[in-house]
Amino acid sequence: MPNLVAIVGRPNVGKSTLFNRLTQSRKAIVSDTAGTTRDRQYGKCQWNGQEFSIVDTGGWVVKSDDIFEGAIREQVKVATEEADLVLFLVDVETGLTDWDEDVATILRRAKLPVILVANKVDNSGEAYEAAEFYKLGLGDPQCISAATGGGTGDLLDVVVATLPKEAKEIVDDDIPRFAVVGRPNAGKSSIINAFIGEDRNIVTEIAGTTRDSIYTRFNKFGFDFYLVDTAGIRKKNKVTEDLEFYSVMRSIRSIENSDVCILMVDATRGIEAQDMNIFQLIQKNNKSLIVVVNKWDLVENKDQKVIDTFKNAIYNRMAPFVDFPIIFASALTKQRIFKVLETAKEVYQNRHIHIGTTKLNEVMLPIIEQTPPPSTKGKYIKIKYCSQLPNTQIPSFVFYANLPQYIKEPYRRFLENKIRDNWSLHGCPINVFIRQK
Ligand code: GDP
Ligand code: GDP
Repeated sequence: MPNLVAIVGRPNVGKSTLFNRLTQSRKAIVSDTAGTTRDRQYGKCQWNGQEFSIVDTGGWVVKSDDIFEGAIREQVKVATEEADLVLFLVDVETGLTDWDEDVATILRRAKLPVILVANKVDNSGEAYEAAEFYKLGLGDPQCISAATGGGTGDLLDVVVATLPKEAKEIVDDDIPRFAVVGRPNAGKSSIINAFIGEDRNIVTEIAGTTRDSIYTRFNKFGFDFYLVDTAGIRKKNKVTEDLEFYSVMRSIRSIENSDVCILMVDATRGIEAQDMNIFQLIQKNNKSLIVVVNKWDLVENKDQKVIDTFKNAIYNRMAPFVDFPIIFASALTKQRIFKVLETAKEVYQNRHIHIGTTKLNEVMLPIIEQTPPPSTKGKYIKIKYCSQLPNTQIPSFVFYANLPQYIKEPYRRFLENKIRDNWSLHGCPINVFIRQK
């Protein structure tokens, strides 16, 4: 399971600048229109062959003066409970503040490694200014300039050396791992209880290695799968429960450790920003998806028109990825609970599809012949053949073309949709690459 690093610190110390530098997401922010805002808060970093996730806690700060400091303090606590390592950012331009001391107190008590990072050391002559932060009792600060990148290589060396060894979970790779995710009160605990029912014998806790047990094995009614992070769902902390940041931190862990995400949406509220944020975490991690519109018992008029309106609203928000099942269910009355499990299993199987090269070309080449890529700059663009790549995390297809650089996103998407029309990939993200032949 991947490690999670949280960046904490006062506003304006340079958290988001550092986050961008470590995740190199600047390009993504400019070019990627959907989901841009959240890309600034959750990303992946790779250093010396080790990959970990990073969260910028600054992205979730509630910007209202009276609750501001309390909210940040709460976030720091959540970060210490949910992350594997904290980067505590301070700023040599402003120097040591009372607030830094407050946060340091929380961090010193926490049971996870904390790296103190002094930012805005734009030239090495300024490094002596960072000495005062030693008083925080968190060791010598790592001096960096997030703006220029100075010192960030050394910082990453320390991060990688400090991160706990990636925990090896004792799980069977052939058994699907389902995560139930969604915002607070969507009905996550209720649906898990509905799966399990009174019969506690159908689940077995799997000993986690580093922290709470994260997998529960479910084996009954012809289903065999792991539920991810049910312990976290059952154990509720009243204070932090409603913080979006808290639910996001929890979701990250569950999503990263799953194959299929069961995204719970509250029928009485529809899709809101918070649902979208979780959806984007699922997409960013290339996980398979089913959406459960829960509390369907509370919706009075359930005719087809209402159902279609609901579905369209969800697909519109989540476009362009729209090839996933939506199930209207009730954790309370247990309506369609079995269907949810059945569908999650199907969606998992779709992830492992293998399409033979001959069959793929037989179907795709005539489609391409009928609707070829538009010619660009007076050049004909030809796709000669295609194949599915072996051993990939999600089904990945390559189309070999004479001039791949002229094949634009709409055509790539057209190819993706045609693959989806012809094979069962419901709920499953896929890659479509165009390469030079
Ligand atoms: P956040 O609120 O903690 O996320 O801080 P930001 O990343 O938004 O940065 C706040 C301000 O500090 C911005 O104007 C940045 O350009 C500036 N800043 C960030 N890192 C550095 C740095 O290394 N050196 C200098 N001089 N300015 C920086
Ligand atoms: P979680 O925060 O996502 O784990 O949500 P809970 O499972 O704790 O549910 C939040 C509230 O919604 C509780 O009061 C549940 O009883 C209620 N609830 C959950 N599922 C349903 C449902 O299908 N129908 C109705 N009417 N209430 C539900």
